[in-house]
Amino acid sequence: MSIKNVLLVRIGEIWLKGENRNFFVKALARRIKKAIENTGATLEVNQGRMFVRNIQDMDEIIAKVTKVFGVHSVSPVVQCEKDVQAIYDTAIEMMTPMTGTFKVIARRADKRFPMNSTMLNEEIGHEVLVHCPQMKVDVHSPDHELNVEVRENVYLYVEKIPAVGGMPVGTNGKAMLLLSGGIDSPVAGYMIAKRGVQLNAIHYHSFPFTSEQAKQKVVDLARMLAEYAGPIRLYVVPFTELQQELYEKCPDSQLTILMRRYMMRIANEVAKKANCSALITGESIGQVASQTMDGLVCSNAVCDMPVFRPLIGFDKSDIMDVAVKIGTYETSILPYEDCCTIFTPKHPQTKPKVETLLESEKLIDGDGLVQRAIEGIEIINIMP
Ligand code: ATP
Ligand code: MG
Repeated sequence: MSIKNVLLVRIGEIWLKGENRNFFVKALARRIKKAIENTGATLEVNQGRMFVRNIQDMDEIIAKVTKVFGVHSVSPVVQCEKDVQAIYDTAIEMMTPMTGTFKVIARRADKRFPMNSTMLNEEIGHEVLVHCPQMKVDVHSPDHELNVEVRENVYLYVEKIPAVGGMPVGTNGKAMLLLSGGIDSPVAGYMIAKRGVQLNAIHYHSFPFTSEQAKQKVVDLARMLAEYAGPIRLYVVPFTELQQELYEKCPDSQLTILMRRYMMRIANEVAKKANCSALITGESIGQVASQTMDGLVCSNAVCDMPVFRPLIGFDKSDIMDVAVKIGTYETSILPYEDCCTIFTPKHPQTKPKVETLLESEKLIDGDGLVQRAIEGIEIINIMP
């Protein structure tokens, strides 16, 4: 068994938060506790530092904690007694399996400890050199940095593993993500949740033109997002009647942009009822016909709350890289049809005008269709 028995958790940007720091630290502690729930491990918050203790499986805990927004990096540490010989023994045990060059970085927060940090650096370095002849010292660019912190206990660590960063979810309000089964929208949701925003999600489903599997795919994607963002309430909207009416009564070239406007309009209304302050989409300028500048202006025009489009300046390949990193890519590319891919016009308008679209919308009973779609919503509570 590894002698590393404690995980040191570093918090990043939260340190910038001045007077509100406590609020953010508490929110982060809640998130970490939730992530390690049922593993037997416990979280200790001590003078702005966080330690996970009682760890049975270090790799499992690292995997869980590095996914929590607000965590900057983690280090598996060995805690030892505040005793010089115990520190030497632990340092030697940690360095014995290693090769290459090293440097000791000691910090003495407890000023009552008899050796200062310079003495600690020299003496620990000396002990390691004597007992680990395969190691050499390099103070400028060592392969390994042996950190030794003398506090209420003594902590030693070498590894520093980067985590997701961001802000703890729940510290920055709530927003409604328009979640399709595609590659982009899960990435968009991830990016906004990473800034501390709690997510709700809304999905438009055109049964029987879209299948049960297509809906299940969205539920699966929402669950993957929930692993980072916490529980997500997913609103599944029946969209068939609206799409059919548009198809039968409105000009073919406007079908996609009209559909996008109704999606945004419904999302805007559902978001208000759910106390969300903004919408989130996976749109990126110019990616498809409905995401030209004019297309974005027309679909935005039906909303009276901010619409966040975190991917607006991303190339598709950059979005795909993030999707791979967060683990949604493989699910997103499963080949189930989406309601956007049925009833697609042969020549979609790329320069739509709001006035023209408003004329077309008079051809259907928009208010009634929107109301019925909202009444037919199925709510699914997605847990991580
Ligand atoms: P994605 O990969 O996210 O599906 P996309 O490139 O396919 O995006 P569009 O189909 O034009 O682009 O959709 C633009 C945005 O509209 C999506 O990123 C998503 O936020 C939202 N959206 C599209 N289809 C749906 C749907 N069926 N349900 C909910 N939101 C949707
Ligand atoms: Mg799509």
